[in-house]
Amino acid sequence: MNSPTPHPAFPGAVWPAIPQAPAAALLAVLGQLAESQFMTHEQLAMARRPQVEALMDHAAGQLPFWRDRLRAAGLDPKTRSQAALTMREWNERWASLPILTRAEVQSLGDQLRVSQLPDGHGNIGESVTSGSSGRPVRIARSTLDYFYWQAFQLREHVWRGRDLSGRFLSILRDDRREVMDESVHLRQTADWGPPASVVWPTGPSFLLDYRTPIRALVQTICELKPDYLCTFPSLLLEILRHARGEEIQLPPLMEAIGVGEASPPELAGLCREIWDAPLASTYTAAETGAMAYQCREGGRWHLQSEKSIIEVLDAEGQPCAPGETGRVIVTPLHNFAMPLIRYEIGDLATVGEGPCACGRTLPILDAIPGRARDLIMLPSGELRPPYYGHSAVMKVRSIRQHQVIQTSRDHVCFRLVVAQPLTSEEEAHVIKSATDALGGAFGVSIEYVVEILRSPNGKFAEFERRSDSSND
Ligand SMILES: [Zn+2]
Repeated sequence: MNSPTPHPAFPGAVWPAIPQAPAAALLAVLGQLAESQFMTHEQLAMARRPQVEALMDHAAGQLPFWRDRLRAAGLDPKTRSQAALTMREWNERWASLPILTRAEVQSLGDQLRVSQLPDGHGNIGESVTSGSSGRPVRIARSTLDYFYWQAFQLREHVWRGRDLSGRFLSILRDDRREVMDESVHLRQTADWGPPASVVWPTGPSFLLDYRTPIRALVQTICELKPDYLCTFPSLLLEILRHARGEEIQLPPLMEAIGVGEASPPELAGLCREIWDAPLASTYTAAETGAMAYQCREGGRWHLQSEKSIIEVLDAEGQPCAPGETGRVIVTPLHNFAMPLIRYEIGDLATVGEGPCACGRTLPILDAIPGRARDLIMLPSGELRPPYYGHSAVMKVRSIRQHQVIQTSRDHVCFRLVVAQPLTSEEEAHVIKSATDALGGAFGVSIEYVVEILRSPNGKFAEFERRSDSSND
């Protein structure tokens, strides 16, 4: 992005522009983030500490649950002010705070919600996690939290160097859709919408409801010729497979943006191969907003450490070393409506090691395999990310959609949607590749289905462990 000029507040203040009031606050935060991304880890922790303490003090002042928990850890305002903690002592006390689980958030409910926000934090709204498997979590959020969420969205546009004059197409769920038939449901807006359009002039955007046959989605892409496409990774995969299978030449694309699900590792390569476009995937959650953005240089993820404290812990609760995969524990720093301190969000991430080619010092994740509940259970009872020979499956061109279900401790089933029946060689190829990738520990079968339904929000679990596989 070529340092775009903000909308001017009034005529004759065009460049350097005096921004309009709503944009000025966003740009001021964005400017600070442009500096903090190059801080050392120690500098960032020091700069962030007053924000963490403001959150903790607010939580302890409003909610007995947090008052007791923070006092037990020696992090309540009184104990802290007496102790004048060094950073090391502070970190030790922080690490002694118990992890807040999803189940606790669900059962404690209103005991985690404040009744009063500090001045300037606005009103209290609500955000609900998808609950595509398991019960949803309801999170109270403040207006201020939404503001920070927007500032970090702007940062992602800047990092990815997006051309704001481009045409932006999202294929997601359109809640305004009323008629459910097979027709294309498309809405056009003159700009990209907030936050980008609040600050800068932008090109048009389009929202295409995903509940339309894939053929019609691909045709709409060809007609609209978007510069950016934002959708679920699983749907992007379907689009790519369809275009390849039908030999459709997709129009040039500057970037595909994957949201809402973990991207399978092969997707970026496939997007390059079939569409000649890079894939940007973001790591966000309804409870927290953005947690990590993929770097354009190098392709790994930078934690958004100014927005949340994000820890990756092993089974013993110790921080994972580079290369290790562990549970993601997150503390969003600006949502005072429902303080979540050391919240286990249910995802797994693999810790990376700096430096990054881009020069930014924000901590790195090498991979985000996704939901912990989407792990495969080995016959020994251990849980692993499900590697089942994804690229081998992709080689069979008539497969349009696939989903892998672990049906028991030693069996997985490939559910396939196909354009034409697989030859016996192709079937054998899928079964052998998957058996080998799974280390010979599983029987593999194929089931043909007409379609694989998405959950109501459009998401789709490529791997699913059915509950009966934990027959213990
Ligand atoms: Zn980087």
